[in-house]
Amino acid sequence: MIPGGRLVVLGKQGAGKGTQCVRLSHHYVIPHISTGDMLRGETKAGTELGLEAQRYMDSGELIPDGVVLAMVAQRLDQDDTRTRGFVLDGFPRTVAQAVGLDELLSPAGLDLAVNIVVPTPLVLRRLASRRVCEDCAAIYSTVSPPRVAWICDACGGEVIHREDDTEAAIHRRLDLYEQQTQPLIAWYRRANKLVSISGVGSPEAVSDRLVAAVDDHRSASGGFGAPLRTIGGAAGESDRAPSEPEGGGAHDLLDFADDPEDDESVWGQSS
Ligand code: ADP
Ligand code: ZN
Repeated sequence: MIPGGRLVVLGKQGAGKGTQCVRLSHHYVIPHISTGDMLRGETKAGTELGLEAQRYMDSGELIPDGVVLAMVAQRLDQDDTRTRGFVLDGFPRTVAQAVGLDELLSPAGLDLAVNIVVPTPLVLRRLASRRVCEDCAAIYSTVSPPRVAWICDACGGEVIHREDDTEAAIHRRLDLYEQQTQPLIAWYRRANKLVSISGVGSPEAVSDRLVAAVDDHRSASGGFGAPLRTIGGAAGESDRAPSEPEGGGAHDLLDFADDPEDDESVWGQSS
C-alpha cells in the first residue's frame, strides 16, 4: 500500500522542488504545501497578509518567521495533513522555522527531509527559463511550454514569468539560501532525518531517485508516521516493517551519474 508521510523538501531555487513536490504528493497521496504558492495566493486575493508579503517577495527577501509559521501552523491543522501527512515545499527556510515546525509536529516529529542538490550555474539557467501558471502554480519553461501558447494545460490560467525571477531577486534568494537555509541540511543530518539526491537530469529521472531514497529511508528506519491515522485504518498500522536500528549516511544517494535520456539543457547534463 502507499503510506502517507511527513516530508520536507530542501533545495536551492530552481532545484526542482516545486515539480518534485507535486510528484511526491501524488505518489504518496499527501497534500503538497508550498509556502511560496500560499503567499502568492494571499497576494492575489489582496489579503492583508498578501499585501504585506508582496513587498518581501518581489525583492527576494524572506517573510518574517513568525508570519510564515502562523500560516503553516494553520495549514497543518487541517484534516488531510493530520491523517495523511504532507510534503512541505519552501518551508522551513531558516533554523527558527525548523524549530517551530518541530514544535508543531511534537511529539511525532518529521519523517524525513529530502535535499535536492543541483549546481548553481544550472539553477540559474533553469530560473531564467522558468514560467509558472498564475492560477494553479503549474511549472513550465521556455523549453517545455504549455500546449497552447502561455495558457496553462491544467487549468487554463495565464502562464507567466514570475515577478521575482529577475536576475537581482534570484541572486538575493540564492544568497539567502546559502546563509539561512543551508544550515538546515546539517541540522536534519544530525537528527538522522536527511537524504540527499542529485537533482540533475529529467524530472522523471529525479523523481525516480527521490522515491527510491524516501522508500529506502522508510524501510531502514522501520516505517514512517507512527501516529499517522491512515484513512479507514487504525493509527500506526500500515506497512510498518519490524524495527531495525536507525541507519546512518548510507542512504545519501548522491548520484551525479549521466542520464542518457536527458537531452534538455535546462534539466542539465552532467558535465
Ligand atoms: P523560490 O524557491 O524560487 O524562492 P518560493 O515560491 O518558494 O520560490 O518563494 C517565493 C518567495 O516567498 C520567497 O522569496 C519569500 O519571499 C517567500 N517565502 C516562501 N516561503 C517562505 C518561508 N518559508 N519563509 C520566508 N519567506 C518565504
Ligand atoms: Zn494552471
